[in-house]
Amino acid sequence: MPCRDAPGLPVITLFVQSLTALKTEILTIESASKFEQAASRAADLLSSGRLAALPTETVYGLAADAFNAEAVASIYTTKGRPSTNPLIVHVADKSMLLECVREWPEIAEKFSQAFWPGPLTLVLPKSDRISDDITAGLDSVAVRWPGHPFMRAVIKNLGRPIAAPSANLANQLSPTSAEHVQAQLKGRIPLIVDGGAANVGIESTVLDLCGKNPTVLRPGIIHLESLRAVAPNTMHRSAQQSSGAQKSPGLHHKHYAPKARVIILDRSDSSQPNDLINQIRRLGILPAEACVLGLEDLPSPADFLRVCFIPHDPEAYARALYAELFLCDQLGPKWILVEAVPDTPAWEGVRDRLARAAGDE
Ligand code: AMP
Ligand code: MG
Repeated sequence: MPCRDAPGLPVITLFVQSLTALKTEILTIESASKFEQAASRAADLLSSGRLAALPTETVYGLAADAFNAEAVASIYTTKGRPSTNPLIVHVADKSMLLECVREWPEIAEKFSQAFWPGPLTLVLPKSDRISDDITAGLDSVAVRWPGHPFMRAVIKNLGRPIAAPSANLANQLSPTSAEHVQAQLKGRIPLIVDGGAANVGIESTVLDLCGKNPTVLRPGIIHLESLRAVAPNTMHRSAQQSSGAQKSPGLHHKHYAPKARVIILDRSDSSQPNDLINQIRRLGILPAEACVLGLEDLPSPADFLRVCFIPHDPEAYARALYAELFLCDQLGPKWILVEAVPDTPAWEGVRDRLARAAGDE
């Protein structure tokens, strides 16, 4: 049968959308009283099984009561997150932590003493209180004691751990500001708390403590050398994998990616090391269709859609990275050209995110 236009359909669709869209409240925490009000509003929503986007020091998190299975399930539906990708559980005191894990070995105590509260997630055998929805069916749970005072205040007010992945739609950029969260989740969740720009800017380092050697599953700002100061036998997942061990879930090659195609350019690949411009020409890329994220000056930046240089410091780079990719994407470029960052341990978290943004981990 031939198709016909259905003139009434757009109106009906709009009507249904307006019924399903939630009003998203935005609260700030810039004074002590606003901080208290926002923390108690967020905890109230979470305790009634709702979600809230909250600032943490790594990236903004989409929070739910970790002991409420329906609330946890709605994290997955809100984000469109694959059910095979487990969530991190956030705690704010030792007794809450011990409710989540079945074992708390000496080595976990050492890592937590060195890096908590902060951007380190520890993977340990899970307790019965942690549902399979959180762990994607694994027998282990990822736990973190966050450094951000607001996140800690909400956990304390709720009196239970909070499950929270990054507050973005699946496979899009992680948000490092409330505006980034709004761009993706406004109308889908009841509350976004604006705590300003995230201080770390990339997701936590994930360290698996279930095997023989502590193993970095996801690099972050706390890097291998710092972890080895606590346990010299700490290793990277890639080293473990070559010995045949199972890959961690949720670590897809293409992840943390902007809409534009990301290409990493290395000055050392050129016969004229300072000439990234020639490399770009050889790739047939039109500057007017490209944004550039560099470390050092370019000779003729004028023709590009946007050119930005991030300081030669891994912590400052991590803090700025997603915001910069987000800004680039808003200009609608075909390409984002990124200058390769140094191949040293301090840069491993940034290198990992860039490789995944380029889809070539
Ligand atoms: P996100 O919440 O988006 O920062 O992602 C959390 C990541 O932590 C997941 O993608 C996994 O890579 C890792 N993770 C969480 N739970 C576990 C677990 N039980 N075992 C191994 N890795 C985990
Ligand atoms: Mg995420």
